[in-house]
Amino acid sequence: MKCKWVNEGGFGLDKAVCVEREVVDSILSHAQMLHPRESILLLKGKVSKHKITVNDVLIPPLATHGNTFSAFPLSRLPIDFSVIGVAHSHPSGALRPSVTDLNKFYGRLMLITAYPYKSEQNIIILNRQGKPLNYTIV
Ligand SMILES: [Zn+2]
Repeated sequence: MKCKWVNEGGFGLDKAVCVEREVVDSILSHAQMLHPRESILLLKGKVSKHKITVNDVLIPPLATHGNTFSAFPLSRLPIDFSVIGVAHSHPSGALRPSVTDLNKFYGRLMLITAYPYKSEQNIIILNRQGKPLNYTIV
């Protein structure tokens, strides 16, 4: 399947965003498992000229269960250029970033999944400006 372009609308990210199905499933099931606590996962992937592909997730080395995204020490993450963003869950069900989320932006993409974490309907992906991006599951 081809990824969609996301540059329409001036979102400031002229790349297509593709997320592998396994990544979506891992994020949803991790969030379900930790609910009502917040889950945090690092997004790994590849960035090419026209495309960002998210192809793996990683449990952050410093994560302790019960850490919230806002309390998570992103600045202490090891430098790994395959980490292209962070996914976290919103047990409250709010499918939008908080102000703190936007201030804590790490990498190129922020993925938020909101309760009930059932499908991609419960997922948004944002750019650094906090704008939701179209993405394609591959
Ligand atoms: Zn959040």
